[in-house]
Amino acid sequence: MMFFYPPYNSMKELCDHLKKDGYLKSQKVYDSLMNVDRKDFSKNSPYEDRPQPINYNVTISAPHMHAYCLELLKDHLKPGGKALDVGFGSGYLTVAMSKMMDDKGTAVGIEHIKELCDFANENIRKNHKNLLDSKKVILVHGDGRNGCTQYGPYNCIHVGAAAAKLPQALIDQLTNGGRLVIPIGEEGGTQYIYIIDKDNNGKITKTQGLCVSYVPLTSAEHQLSY
Ligand code: SAH
Repeated sequence: MMFFYPPYNSMKELCDHLKKDGYLKSQKVYDSLMNVDRKDFSKNSPYEDRPQPINYNVTISAPHMHAYCLELLKDHLKPGGKALDVGFGSGYLTVAMSKMMDDKGTAVGIEHIKELCDFANENIRKNHKNLLDSKKVILVHGDGRNGCTQYGPYNCIHVGAAAAKLPQALIDQLTNGGRLVIPIGEEGGTQYIYIIDKDNNGKITKTQGLCVSYVPLTSAEHQLSY
């Protein structure tokens, strides 16, 4: 089967299309994506609604997945809050999460490939250098399966790679009232987004979301071994 990706030329065209398709539901998420130009993060066809390779066997996620996850996290991304983005890759979503908090929160990203940490840092510097300088966006090199205790706990956590099973460390690093959005499923198999909520008494509930296809949340060694 052939898929046709319309040749959008701008973030406006892309976001209007995501809105029409129902992925962008709120003005808040629309504005946040509009504030972060995907061309700073992907050299190839940045305004197409599909993932693009960023080397090291991974991709920048499709814009509709960024929109979908931000809509799920919207009420947990508030000024003064703290958010964690596990497997930040290009750095796109970490910045978008900061924008959702009106640049008045702390968006921490953790990524296990050193070269991608440098790549994201360069991408963000193009138009959002202030966020790095003011530490509103903090990029950490490390294994995100353990979360990032140094800056936690977090009001919300986003995971950009599929875990074979739910990492307990990430649940532990959520505040009460916090939310984790994570793809879960076997590598190359059926995966679903799960929405994990921790209520004000610390009780956990899990809700299944979209069926997806993400690269695995794994060791750096395994990721680079293909
Ligand atoms: N949200 C990112 C997604 C990048 S793809 C974006 O849109 O750009 C998933 C990323 O997760 C890759 O960069 C990969 O290197 C990273 N990753 C995979 N396993 C990881 C782990 N154990 N710890 C940290 N990062 C990991």
